[in-house]
Order: sequence, then structure tokens, then C-alpha cells
Amino acid sequence: MEGACEENNASGALAERKRIIKENQGESAMKVLVVNCGSSSLKYQIIDSDTEKVEAKGLCERIGIDGRLTYQPTGGEKEVTEAPMPTHNEAISLVLEALVNPKTGVLKSLDEVEAIGHRVLHGGTKLTESRIVDDEVIAAIEEACDLGPLHNPANLMGIRACMQLMPGKPNVVVFDTSFGMTLPAYAYRYAIPTRFYDKYKVRRYGFHGTSHSFVSKETIKYLGLDKDNSKVIVCHLGNGASISAVQNGKCVDTSMGLTPLEGLIMGTRSGDVDPSILQYLCNHEGIDINQMLSILNHDSGVMALSNNLSSDFRDLEEAMNAGNEAAGLAIDAFAYRVAKYVGAYTAAMNGVDAIAFTGGIGENAGLVRKKVLERLGYLGISMDEEQNKKRGERFILSTKDSKVTVCVLPTNEELAICRETVALVQ
Ligand code: AMP
Repeated sequence: MEGACEENNASGALAERKRIIKENQGESAMKVLVVNCGSSSLKYQIIDSDTEKVEAKGLCERIGIDGRLTYQPTGGEKEVTEAPMPTHNEAISLVLEALVNPKTGVLKSLDEVEAIGHRVLHGGTKLTESRIVDDEVIAAIEEACDLGPLHNPANLMGIRACMQLMPGKPNVVVFDTSFGMTLPAYAYRYAIPTRFYDKYKVRRYGFHGTSHSFVSKETIKYLGLDKDNSKVIVCHLGNGASISAVQNGKCVDTSMGLTPLEGLIMGTRSGDVDPSILQYLCNHEGIDINQMLSILNHDSGVMALSNNLSSDFRDLEEAMNAGNEAAGLAIDAFAYRVAKYVGAYTAAMNGVDAIAFTGGIGENAGLVRKKVLERLGYLGISMDEEQNKKRGERFILSTKDSKVTVCVLPTNEELAICRETVALVQ
């Protein structure tokens, strides 16, 4: 009841603010503040919800240590200010001050902020779609802290700071796990005793959901597919990497699991391994399970395969071209795992109409795209070598006679959060 009441208050306050702004400023467009909090950092963007243009963006770093604010209005100079940020409250406070600064700010007043959209890592099983924040939502995010111990507490700090500093403005939470909540049980259940699912909700959740949702929707629009009769595979290849099968607009399988460790090989994360390796190495190395997990998260992936050369594909490609075999192995293993998952997800959907590459590697690394597509000839795919020279933009990568269309489609998680926010608060 309390939650519903707060929600009504929030939308009532919104309508009132819209009326005041319209009166004062004519048809001035409303803005959405998009916030993405880490434990010691906070990324933000202010987006005009009508034009979908970013008006300013930046970053707070070293929260709780000392504090540094980066602020860049679109088309203007980047400003870096060292300022104390003991908590996320001071960080958000400084962001708001920068946004309304009479000289370099992009807002006349904070009244122009229609709503705040927050990226939240884990919604657990209770929060399966984006929501306007109320007491019930806060409690469910707190409950899911167990599943996202590094991110959820930080996300909550950002939400609470915005509620305190901009009282009455609606806050919307968009979960990285929501998109994976449409998986059928045969795809999300692990074949381990049912009591672990019943007691602890151990299941596949999937992550990067905002990106997979955005890119699959944009791919359908870009290629003119019929959403209700479509089979799309999205390869989100960045420092963290995941892949999803999206049938008729709904996610039917995704490579990350209970945590973002499962699936593809990543920058420093192992992706899939035989779980017995953990016991074997713990026994032989005299380390405990926490140390082992830390190795799989931070000391593995292409970084490990390249003998700690780098987790960045620009460095790996350069080293490979200079004859470094370990760097070549890292790139080959990464591409092979992606191709293997594309095959699996084609089977999961009994076909595929389109494959989209996104993320820092998917958008930029032509070599990786080429190595993946070389393994997909059996799907009737051939790559346009000229097109593959492009990077960081939206384009079609497959040749006209390919049976499956392959495209590159830059992700935009902030815009996706802005759209979700607007859809909910209106
Ligand atoms: P993300 O996590 O999506 O920001 O992706 C970051 C990763 O993208 C980096 O670690 C690089 O491996 C990769 N990347 C970015 N730019 C390039 C580029 N021009 N060529 C190859 N890889 C790139």
C-alpha cells in the first residue's frame, strides 16, 4: 500500500512539475538523468527525452576515497574537478551543481529533470521488469544484494542519494537481469537439486540485459524484420561478454548465469569451465573457494591465455601480428567460443534470421568478427571484407547473398534506460 501511495505521489508531482515548466518555459523538453553507480564510481548522462540527444555526461571517481568529478557538456570542454566525495550523496550533489552551473551547465534549473533512471545489476526473481522506485522495490533490490554483492549495494546508494537530493522526482530502476527473465525453465534451470532453486533461487539470470534488449530491438527495426516472427542472436562483446538468443522479441537463452562469470571468454573472466577444476586447483594450490573465484573473475580470460599480456584486443592483435603466439591463441579461443554459442543458439531457436555484434570488441574489432564468421559458413553466411573495415557505427557486415544477415549495431545502454524511464513515468 505504502509503495502504491508513493508511486501515485511521484506521478502527481511529475504532472505538477510538467505544468509549472510548461507555464514558465513554453514547450521546453524534459530531461532524464541516467545514473550508473559502482561502489566507488558513478557515471551519469543527461538526455533530452524528445530528441534522445545527450546534453552532458560525465563520471565521479574515487567516491569514499577522495573524489574526482568529470563533466562534459555536449560540444563543450571537458572539466575535471577534484572535490571530496565521502559518499554517493556528495557525488550526486556535485553532478547536480555542474548541471545547473550558470556558465557551463545544460539546465536552467533542476525542475527540468523529469525523472532519474538507474541501472541496477540484479533484480532477483521479484523484479522482472523496470519499475518506479517505491519501498517495495527498494526492499527487493536489498534482497537481491546477496546475488549482486558488488553492484546492488552501490546501486542502492545512488538511488537513495537521488531520492534525498531531488525529493518528489520519480526514480526508475532498470535491471541488467530483466531481459533474461523470459527464459523458459528448461533454459534457466541448472541440473542440480531442486531444493537449491527453491531455497536460494539458483538459476540462470543473464546480464547485459539492457544492451541485449536495446540491440535486438534496434536490429529488428534496422533490418525491417517482423518482430513477432524473428530470430536474432546478439553478441555483446566487450570487456565483459555475453550472447543472447532473442525469439519474437523475447530472450529465450543467454550465456551469463547466476553471476556474470559464465559463458563466453572475457577480458579477465574465464567464462565456462568444468566446475571440478575448482576443487582440483583448490586442493593442489592450497587456496580456498573465494580465492579460486577471484582468479576466475580477475586473472583469467584472454588476459590469462595471452600470458598476462593484456585484456585489450588492440594490444592482443598488435602482439599477434608481431608473432606472439599466446596473443593469437587468446583471440582464437575467444572467437571460437563465440562461434560455438552462435551454433548453440541457432539450435535453441531452430534457426536464425540475424546476428548482431555490439560492445567495444563487437563494434571495433574486425579481426574477431572475421574469425567468428569464418566458422559460420554452414549457416550460409559470408562476410563483406570491405564492410568489415568499418567500426563504431551501424552497418551490415554480411554479403547480399548471405542466408543470415549479420550487422554491427553499437549499443547504447544509457539511451535504453532513458527510454524505459520515460515509458514508465509517462
Ligand atoms: P567495452 O567493455 O564494451 O567498453 O569494451 C572494451 C573493450 O573493447 C576493450 O577492452 C578492447 O578489448 C575492445 N576495443 C575497443 N576499441 C577497440 C578497437 N579499436 N579495436 C579492437 N578492440 C577494441
